[in-house]
Amino acid sequence: MIEKVLKWFEKINSIPRESDKEERISNFLVDFAKERNLEVYQDEALNVIIKKPATKGYENAPTVIIQGHMDMVCEKAQGSNHNFDEDPIAFIREGDILRADNTTLGADDGIAIAYGLALLDSNDIEHPNLEILCTTAEETTMNGALSLSKEHLKGEIVLNIDGEEEGVFLISSAGGITSLVSFDINREKCSGDLAKIVVSELKGGHSGMEINKQRANAIKLMGRILYEVKDLINIVNIKGGSKDNAIATYGEIVVASNNMKRVKEIISKISLMIKAEYEFEDPDIKIDIEDFREKRDEMFSKDLTENIIEFIYSMPYGVEYMFNNDELKGVVKASLNLGIVEEKDKEVLFTISIRSAVDSILDEIRNKIKILANRMNAKVEENSAYPSWQYSKDSNIRNIIVNTYKDFSGKEPIITAVHAGLECGILKNLIPNADIISFGPDIFRVHTPDEYCSISSVERTFEYLKKILSEIK
Ligand SMILES: [Zn+2]
Repeated sequence: MIEKVLKWFEKINSIPRESDKEERISNFLVDFAKERNLEVYQDEALNVIIKKPATKGYENAPTVIIQGHMDMVCEKAQGSNHNFDEDPIAFIREGDILRADNTTLGADDGIAIAYGLALLDSNDIEHPNLEILCTTAEETTMNGALSLSKEHLKGEIVLNIDGEEEGVFLISSAGGITSLVSFDINREKCSGDLAKIVVSELKGGHSGMEINKQRANAIKLMGRILYEVKDLINIVNIKGGSKDNAIATYGEIVVASNNMKRVKEIISKISLMIKAEYEFEDPDIKIDIEDFREKRDEMFSKDLTENIIEFIYSMPYGVEYMFNNDELKGVVKASLNLGIVEEKDKEVLFTISIRSAVDSILDEIRNKIKILANRMNAKVEENSAYPSWQYSKDSNIRNIIVNTYKDFSGKEPIITAVHAGLECGILKNLIPNADIISFGPDIFRVHTPDEYCSISSVERTFEYLKKILSEIK
């Protein structure tokens, strides 16, 4: 059976399928279905739904949606002349390892599509009515899932095959939104001496997956430092961070002061305190202040300087809530990250990424930022919202997994949640009664040219997928 899965994986890897360029792979899936006389739908976003009737004995079982995304991240190693628009992805087997040739492999999420095709192509696997749902643009905007209509989806059990670790079953994911807080810049004539404060060498990390590591954020640290000297300075320039979904590792501020000696003294003191606070979580933090010798004609007004400093200082940051029930103990429930501060067209703009597995908590955090911004005379806009997949206590599909996985594999299943957005959240929004679980085989170094997967894990996970299908009656 594994050879059939791998055959389909190799086949789809011969068709270019970079995110937002899915036309060829999408059409291939449609043709595949038509050749087998299977019911198939393709929508404007190029999502494809292929249906296959239940096998004997499963006619009355609930319909199951098996979902994966057809697009892949296209990364290649330096020096590779692979052309992702034309060339097939290489298929290199080395013992248990399957990899490409200095490019991403696309096992994320090609394996899901290969499983789907193997099931559709089979006549010896027992299963309920199947709806194989292949979405587009998961790796960029999730536009495929966001464009789905419910019209051709009858199933209310969803097996999302986009996991990367065998034996790990996800039951909840975060929703999120990006909050943009902007301060109009009022400048006045620059006076006093100038100095540049640089906060650097922070560890950073992903604002969802690593927010619970309690590392420092360079922008927040700038707030801490500036607050101590706010009566003595005006901000001249400010910038920090580079991505909304990365913990800021760097920040710099140019300040003007008539008492720079005192400013330097205070900053060297607060710097030592901050470094001591992060001795374990972020031990390499550097905070430097040096004379700034370039000329500046203008600086921020005193009011604006104060508002910006107090905004950064008092803004909530990091983990706001954790789960503490048996299944999800230790998983972050809600958090926010101050990702970027930059000067843009006469504004100082803060980009904040908020995540929460519970929608009402997301609203609470959004409101906190709005209230604070309002008090500081700043404006708030929001964009890039994506829905959460909320944890629910009861799930039949989870029960099936809890009851069968150990017998099947000899190991306890790991049931957990992820503090990042998944297509499952969008599907849950579309099909409110959906009972969803997300899993997949072992895939390593995902989204890098070193991506590879374990062939035996791909095989075991497929066998287990078949086992789950056989249990849905
Ligand atoms: Zn994926």
